[in-house]
Amino acid sequence: MAVVSGADLTGTGSWSRLFEGVPSGIRDDNLRGTPLPFLKWIRGYPRCQKEMESLWASLADYDQKFRAGDEKSAEKIYSQIFRSMDATSSPSCADALRRTYYVGAVSMGPSYKGGDGFYRDDLVLMVILLANKNVIHFLTPELRHKMADGKKSLWTAQKNGDYLLSGVYRCQNSQIYLSSSLRPFNLAASLAHEIDHLYRDKTGFRFMWDWINNKDVRSFVISDEILASLYGALYQRNLFLLDKESGSTVDYTTQGDEFNLFQKNGPLSQLMDFTHLRPPIPFFEFHGLIAQKKNDPWVKGKLCEVDKTIRAGYFAQIKGSCNLEGIFPKSTWFTTESYISQLRRLRRDPGQFNNYLLELETWEEALVRPSPVCSAMIEAEDRGDLKDYIGSQLEDQGGHTGNSGVKPCLRVKY
Ligand SMILES: [Zn+2]
Repeated sequence: MAVVSGADLTGTGSWSRLFEGVPSGIRDDNLRGTPLPFLKWIRGYPRCQKEMESLWASLADYDQKFRAGDEKSAEKIYSQIFRSMDATSSPSCADALRRTYYVGAVSMGPSYKGGDGFYRDDLVLMVILLANKNVIHFLTPELRHKMADGKKSLWTAQKNGDYLLSGVYRCQNSQIYLSSSLRPFNLAASLAHEIDHLYRDKTGFRFMWDWINNKDVRSFVISDEILASLYGALYQRNLFLLDKESGSTVDYTTQGDEFNLFQKNGPLSQLMDFTHLRPPIPFFEFHGLIAQKKNDPWVKGKLCEVDKTIRAGYFAQIKGSCNLEGIFPKSTWFTTESYISQLRRLRRDPGQFNNYLLELETWEEALVRPSPVCSAMIEAEDRGDLKDYIGSQLEDQGGHTGNSGVKPCLRVKY
């Protein structure tokens, strides 16, 4: 499993408050250039240390077996991990184990010595923060049925023996739900997708007044969905490409049919080859290189295929011809202030890290109430502007309140 390294956290007084479960003395750790002690930062430590370490080791074993192509052993390990998280096997540690599992899932994959160009380290920190703030939950079969309330619904819809809905970010109460049936690498991709939604929702509204004032929430939702899908899929694709560079032949991004936006010979894989970027491919470098050539007929053709694919997955109506506004939104926020571009800045300037953490602290407030952009989205849903958005099908099933503003991640065959 990869480890977070290189971040200088000494003297960061905000750690304890930020990660809550942190025991005293974390500031005394000499963290520069050493792996960050994730397990210390997951709430539940040290009470459940033994259980958490055991789960962490199992997940590392899963990671290794799966990437070596030993699917059978990996599946066996997965079942054991899942059983160990069951509340009945260790009630007092169930939450700590679940949090350990989320963090472990985004820590998997090949090590990359050149620094994490695809921001895995930062995703790990974000997952620790959100898990400790109890923002991330399992979408279990029981919860799905409760949401569906006995009706035919996307909450419970299945395809090829698994649920279609793999994750949800609900902006109204700032909660993330991830399908409890996702295997770890797909859970990581789905989590990356939902966290991308969450970050944009919690920080991006400051830059989105044009959209809100023009009541063009539909364009926002399209861009938001396309970028979250691209980010989640590219995150997973990078893990695979790094493995492939070291000689692995296991293409875990196209196993089954989830998240295969980067399927072999598909438009995104062709665009990736076209940029000649070496893995791991940073989202905005990729995005920027493609943007420069977006009027080239071949590039435009491929981009339109991508646009159509994602819209068809998330929206029932695909109006008009391809105009690529989803992939290249007009707002500069997407390229200057988004989650991934913030992280890019952090990578370039570790001195910014403390500022980043301080900003995250303000989330305490942000997480308890809907953002203005979330409220605008809910109003647009009420007006009927988002009727064909698949996220809108997830609201008000069974009359549960607080189901508006739902942004899903789907297991779609692209
Ligand atoms: Zn989504």
